[in-house]
Order: sequence, then C-alpha cells, then structure tokens
Amino acid sequence: MTSDVENPAPDEAEGEGPAEQTLHGVAASPGIAVGPVVVLDSRGPRVPPRRIPAAGFAAEVARLEAALAAAAAEGAQAEAEANRRLGPRYAGILGAHVALIGDPQLAADARGRIERRRISAEQAVAEVLDGLAERLEGLDDPHLSARAADVRDVKARILAHLTGTRAASFQDDLAAPSVILTRDLSPSDVARLDPAKVLGFATEVGGRTSHAAIVAAALEIPAVAGVGGLLQSAGAARSAVIDGEAGAIVLDPSPATLARFRAAAEARAARFRGLSEEAALPAATLDGVEVELHANIEFVDEAAACRRWGAAGIGLYRTEFLFLRSPTPPTEEEQYAAYSQAVAALPGRPVVIRTLDLGADKLAAHGDVVAHEANPALGLRSLRYSLRRPEMFRTQIRAILRAAAEADGDVRLLLPMVTALDEVRRARELIGEVAASLGTAVPPLGAMVEVPAIALRADRFAKEVDFFSIGTNDLIQYTLAVDRGNEAVAYLYSAADPAVLRLIAMVVEAAAAAAIPCAVCGSMGGEPLYATFLLGLGVRVLSMAPHQIPEVRRLIRGVDMRHARRVAAQAQTLDTARDVAALFEDALRRASGEDASAAC
Ligand code: PEP
Ligand code: MG
Repeated sequence: MTSDVENPAPDEAEGEGPAEQTLHGVAASPGIAVGPVVVLDSRGPRVPPRRIPAAGFAAEVARLEAALAAAAAEGAQAEAEANRRLGPRYAGILGAHVALIGDPQLAADARGRIERRRISAEQAVAEVLDGLAERLEGLDDPHLSARAADVRDVKARILAHLTGTRAASFQDDLAAPSVILTRDLSPSDVARLDPAKVLGFATEVGGRTSHAAIVAAALEIPAVAGVGGLLQSAGAARSAVIDGEAGAIVLDPSPATLARFRAAAEARAARFRGLSEEAALPAATLDGVEVELHANIEFVDEAAACRRWGAAGIGLYRTEFLFLRSPTPPTEEEQYAAYSQAVAALPGRPVVIRTLDLGADKLAAHGDVVAHEANPALGLRSLRYSLRRPEMFRTQIRAILRAAAEADGDVRLLLPMVTALDEVRRARELIGEVAASLGTAVPPLGAMVEVPAIALRADRFAKEVDFFSIGTNDLIQYTLAVDRGNEAVAYLYSAADPAVLRLIAMVVEAAAAAAIPCAVCGSMGGEPLYATFLLGLGVRVLSMAPHQIPEVRRLIRGVDMRHARRVAAQAQTLDTARDVAALFEDALRRASGEDASAAC
C-alpha cells in the first residue's frame, strides 16, 4: 500500500503542475471534497469468501503465508515503534503478538484446514485463533485467560491482511486530511474511516446504493464510486476534487476549477443552512396530508443528525454495522448498550431495529460470521443467516428487547431479506421464546420487502407481520438481476423501472387492504425525484439518511395529493424507465415550484 501523504494541498502546489483531468463515475455520497491525494493502490481486489478448489490449494496457502509474513513485519515495526515511544514493557506485549504470528504451529494448523476442508485462508486463521482464544478464556488462571484478547488482536491483524480491511488503518499515517483514491473500500472499511482525516474518496468499483456508499453518506464523507481506470489516471496526481453530487472527480484541478468547486461547496452549505431552518415544519402536502419522515442509521452517533434534521423516528437501524465496525462480534451487553442509546436518543419516537443483515458485501472481519459462498447476494445472508445461527439471533433479540423494555420505548423489530412465510414464522417463534424468558412483550414485527417473492405475495405476508418496509436497494437488485454494487451494470439499475414500480404498487396496495403500515426505507425513499410517486401510491412513511430529510420535507410541502395520485397512475402506464424518469422529473420541477405548467 503506498501513500502519497507528502503531497501538498492544492493551494500550496507550486509551479505549473500536471494538467487537470476529469473522471466520471457514480455519485455515491453527496458533498464536495478538495484535498491532497492519497492513492491506496496495492491491496488488489477484495477476496470474496469462497470454497477453494483442489487446484487452488497451493495459491491459497501462499496467500496465507504472505499474510502471516506481512502481519509479522507490521507487528515487528509496531513493536520497535512502541519500544521507542513507550518503552520495553509495552513493546513486550507487541513482541508476544509477533511471536504468535510467527508460531509454526499456527501456520501448520491453518494450512491443514485449508487442505482438508477446502476453506479459505481467512476462515482457517479465524478458526485456529478463535479456538486458542476460547481455550485461554476457559482457563482458571486470570493472567492466562486475559491473553485471549491478545489472540483476538492477532487474528484481526492477520485477517486484515487477508481481507483488505486494513484500508482504514492507513489513516493513522496521513500527514494531513486527504482525499483517498483506491480500487475498492468495503462497507466495514468505510465504517472505520475518520471524516476528520478522510475528506472524501473515489473508488474504481461500486454503485450508488452499495453499502459502502450508504455508510459514506452516513459519515457525511463525499464519495464517487465506479470510476473506471481511476488508479491508472491517478498515478501522479497531487490533489483532487471529489464531486459527490455529480459523480465526478477532478485530478489536479486548475485554480479556476478549484474556485468553482469551493463556490459550489459554499452554496451547498448555504442551502443546508436554509433547510435546517425548516426542520421543525410539518412534512405535510399542500392539502394537508401528513407524511412521517424517519431516518436510516448505521451508527448510534447518527442520532444527533436525526434530531438536527427533525426525524420523526428511526425507520431503519442497520445493526450489522455493530459487527462490521469491530474486530470481534459484539457481546449481548455491547449490543444492548447501542440499542439503548438509539432508543434514548429519540424519546417517545418509533425506533425500527432491523435484525442482522450480514452477508453479501457486508462481511465482518471476524471470519466466524462470514459465510463462504460463490454467489453471496443469493446465499446465506441476512435473515437466512440469523436463522441458521439461532444462538446469535437470540442474543441480538435479547439485547433489543432489554433495551426496549428498559426505556419503555416504541421499539419495532424488522426482519431483513424475508423471502418465505416459514422464515417469518420461525423468527416470530424465536422472538416469542426470548420475550417469554425475559418476561417482556413481543414488539411489532415487520418484514423488509426486498425480494420479489414477498412483494408478489404481499397480501399473504400482510396477515402475518405488523408492518412492511420496502427496501428498494435490494428490491431493484433482485427484480432486475442487477448487482447494486457493480459499476459495469449501474446503467441498468433504476428505481424507475416499470417492473420495480409495479412490485412497489402491489405491496402498498396489499398493506392498505390489510390496514398495516408500509414504509419505504431504501434509497428511493430519500430521493425527492420519487417522493411524488410514492405519495400518490399511498405511502405515508419514508425513511432515509438523516441529511436527506430536509429536501424531501421541502418537496412534500410543495405537492398536492391530486397531482401526486395522477403521477402515480400515469407512471404505471409507461413502458420504459426513461419515460418514467422523465415524468418524475416533471413532477419534481412542479413540486419545487420550478415549472408550474408541467404535464399532469
Ligand atoms: C434496501 O435493500 O433497500 C435496504 C434498505 O437495506 P440495505 O440497503 O441495508 O440492504
Ligand atoms: Mg437490503
């Protein structure tokens, strides 16, 4: 991994400098960032979890050995540094880590597992070191059992080299706040970025609703994804602008370009200052129909943004980020603390806590919660994974129910990626058992609608759940067979596709017929472009990233329901996503007061 941390900030660059170059990608997280460039170019593509074919054994062992060597070298460097700064006592701890990494028994055990069971190096390392940590924890000697934490530390260090999740640690080396250009960042990489150090980033891969993009928006770090040839073009770049609004990056911007972007950033800040004054205004249409605007959060510290932007509640708490941010799975107590904090942050308001949605691109660094699959988006992810690991699921439910009971809050449970009624019934059974053991009530239980199977039978599901929440990010992916994180097919990924609209309409209708609430919590719910359509269909709860609330509120305050219903009806008669998008753009202009004569 190389870091161009010596690069001067754009203002300090001297002389002619290289020519300005603009590259285009996908707008992944809004905002504009300007700063010196740091290129992270040596980690290569992320290695997805997988089974190793017999022919791949030698290569996998070589990966293992390389990761062990890199981790040992890194550990030795940290030891020397600690010795210099903190003295031999502290350095000794790191020395023990280096010795463990270099222990021939560790390499032999891991190699044996790869060979016998054809598992990946990540899983093999995790198994060996977890086993050792558990044995140490089981010992009576408090000195020895405390060593388990060291073993887990070592595991995280080696896995970071194997999975590429090391990307976040480069931050410690930055000489100044910078713009990061790299091939890929996983959601857990992004979750560990520090917005004070990373002003913005651009990646070669990724799409608009990939989880890395969602987390970047949560952290308010401007980002552009899917920039083809980024690293090749960025080779010698000294500074860059990340334009997360337009989905573009400018390498080595000229003084004139810099001035233009600085003015745009200031205009954006001024727009948000204006919007913040509207945070207390009701989200009601011109003819008085009220809409609940909820916030999606990944981290509890986003609760402040929820309050700032006047969220009526938390509509989606993506709890898997508790797992993604930490090198070991969080305990019940750690989960309980996080859920309690979320409930306490918005007293009296609904908090929808989604059970773990791990898998696909949301892979934790600790190998024990990673399913090894060739096609993880269709694999053992999300609710399927939780039901396969009932103890883990029970632990999470216990933590949520305890937090709900303690605060006497309006907590609701949401199941991700529901596909079959059996899953809902099994989850309800497990939740009922946990509630009975705690002596608490079962909270309202909702299903995410993100797989066509549930949308098509929404009428049946509506009889067994208390609410729906439409996850358009995955619903689009699974309906159109378009990977939401793949920039090569990003042009096919559209919320305006007629098939997507039809499924959403079916779900909203089924919910209305069964008199259960139906929210939209995927990215479509936070885009003003779609608000008129969703209102016209009958959606009354929208959940989105906190910073999206003010613009959606402003849009809603410019819509009248007669017009919204007409837009919804007309959209469902159109044949192509392009025609639908054109209709929605007209509606957006009209609701924004830009074009009072628009069609409809
Ligand atoms: C969705 O799929 O729309 C959703 C809200 O869930 P996530 O983005 O976490 O997959
Ligand atoms: Mg989803």
